Amino acid sequence: MTTNLAFRPKVELHLHLEGCLTPAEALLLARRHGLQLGKNGILALYRHRDFGEFLRHFGQLLDLFKGPEDLAWLLGRVLGRLRRQGVIYAEIRVSPSVWERHGLHPAPCLKTLLALRHTAPLPFNLIVDAVRQWDRALLERDLDLACAYKGQGVVAFGLGGDEAAAPAARFGDLAEECRSRRLPVVPHAGEAMDAGEVASAMEVFRPRRIGHGIAAAGSESVLAEVIRRGVHLEVCPTSNRRTGVIGPRERHPLGLLWRRGVHLSLGTDDPALFGATPCGELRFAARSAGWTLEDMGRSQVAAARASFLPPGAREALVRRLEAGWPL
Ligand SMILES: [Zn+2]
Repeated sequence: MTTNLAFRPKVELHLHLEGCLTPAEALLLARRHGLQLGKNGILALYRHRDFGEFLRHFGQLLDLFKGPEDLAWLLGRVLGRLRRQGVIYAEIRVSPSVWERHGLHPAPCLKTLLALRHTAPLPFNLIVDAVRQWDRALLERDLDLACAYKGQGVVAFGLGGDEAAAPAARFGDLAEECRSRRLPVVPHAGEAMDAGEVASAMEVFRPRRIGHGIAAAGSESVLAEVIRRGVHLEVCPTSNRRTGVIGPRERHPLGLLWRRGVHLSLGTDDPALFGATPCGELRFAARSAGWTLEDMGRSQVAAARASFLPPGAREALVRRLEAGWPL
């Protein structure tokens, strides 16, 4: 692909703030807080022999954040990076219960991040992402927090974490509560689990979007249901490769999903941990699924239509994307 994709306008819908800390930034944070972690010590936290070690390393990186200002500093840098990749609107997942586990106070952190909306280099909103397998009281607290800032930059409630340990069927009452509080839910589903979990997530949450959802490609009936409902899949190919949910010799289902007409766009998930960028994901789609510039543009428009912006702003975003791609 000879075109410089960074000049084309984009929307990012699947990105976790906590997965955005690069080794250079980790080193800066460590020095800021007088921690004895040299460059090699930091780099070692980005190499893992197995998933257990990955989780331990991720926890050690989170320990580098000592207050809301550290998270806001990272968000500012992330938004700058997104802008340089041509992103003009982003919905970013944040995990208050993960912050709390590492000694930070959720409410002031969320408030500080939302204050950045006034000065950010691009418009963004936040999705409060709960860890599904943790204590139910924490999920309820995260939902209360999301509702408290709804209309002030929090646009949805996310459900991340371990699908196998806490499948969608367990959250019928939570889904009902979200509906009654008029807060959309964006569950992760069908990332590591099979198509049945995507079907279950659609049934329980009736979501407009699903994080990943790629397992739908494994079942004709679930795929048909995803299409019938018009559910938007936030597909993160580099993440899927790096976490091993798609094996090295396995073909990524992106091409199949796209050919069948699934409403989808590409996300970077945990870009600093996986080495993913918005332009890089599009180049992957060109290589593996034969995407043309028109396909890329259509996926960007699909992302804008699936965003949680109010209708007027959503249409304005769609028009900007339509003008920026050869459609
Ligand atoms: Zn994710």
